[in-house]
Amino acid sequence: MHRRDFLRSGTAVTIAAGSGLTLTLRRATAAEHGAIVAAAQRVPVGEMTVTALSDGYIPLDSSVLIGIDEEGFAEAAQAAFLDPERAVRGAVNAYAVQVGEETVLIDTGAGALFGPTLGDLPANLAAAGIDPGSVGSIVITHLHGDHFGGAAVDGAKAFPNARMILTETEHGFWTSEDIKASAPEEVRPFFDTAAAAVSTYEDALELLPDGAEIAPGLVYEHLPGHTPGHNGVMLSSGDASLFVWADTIHVPHVQFAMPEVGIAFDVDRDLARETRARVLDRVVADRQAIAGMHLPFPGIGHVETATEGYRFVPTGWHYL
Ligand SMILES: [Zn+2]
Repeated sequence: MHRRDFLRSGTAVTIAAGSGLTLTLRRATAAEHGAIVAAAQRVPVGEMTVTALSDGYIPLDSSVLIGIDEEGFAEAAQAAFLDPERAVRGAVNAYAVQVGEETVLIDTGAGALFGPTLGDLPANLAAAGIDPGSVGSIVITHLHGDHFGGAAVDGAKAFPNARMILTETEHGFWTSEDIKASAPEEVRPFFDTAAAAVSTYEDALELLPDGAEIAPGLVYEHLPGHTPGHNGVMLSSGDASLFVWADTIHVPHVQFAMPEVGIAFDVDRDLARETRARVLDRVVADRQAIAGMHLPFPGIGHVETATEGYRFVPTGWHYL
């Protein structure tokens, strides 16, 4: 694996490359995609209605993980009753939130950025009866392609009436020419695609501080490390709440048991690990319901401690 460090404002920031390109360039055939039947799932959270939406999946192997080798990855797969010979399917989810009259979409899937195993969001929005024109805000958790790629189609807004909400930190990082120039060459295209998506919404861009309230009942929570401005979204209504933790965990069958394992796309690996440990501790202690962009669809459940690390307890669709 190929990694380089570069400096930003006196702080060492690591961007992992190499495996990132492997992922970007991996083009699964349509036949590999398979059929996903349950791809839009409604969940009440107090007065709000959350609709979990599948965008498809990313084929993953051990090369994207930091802190576990191929053998350890195969063992973890076996322990999770997965075929260690087969590429793991990493889910990509987004969540639409109906708050009163407003429809807010948290992340947009990958659009056309990562090939045919992704980009299902528009079809699943349609299946859920959500018109893209009715979406008033798209809230981006961080500027990685599998989260913003669906915001634009051929340089035009996929959600023509939406404002794009983003944190200042995240926007500042991915649109900085200086940071891009000091980043390894292989990761510079990631800056370009992020800046292009943001510029599509230039006239409808709302930049907020990390941890800011987005709207009543929707609050950003800063989860730094994966990217500098990576934010989850806490949804609360009355006594009910759901913590959309974005990319706290990428590869569930490995990282719940071994939360010290990171992913190559973590900008600051140590900080990402610290954040993951803190969040896991808290959601266990608070018995907090969570939703994750890379947890098996619909990606909603709870976390409990296990003999080794933690265990994800998905909430079956019939209980949602
Ligand atoms: Zn992601």
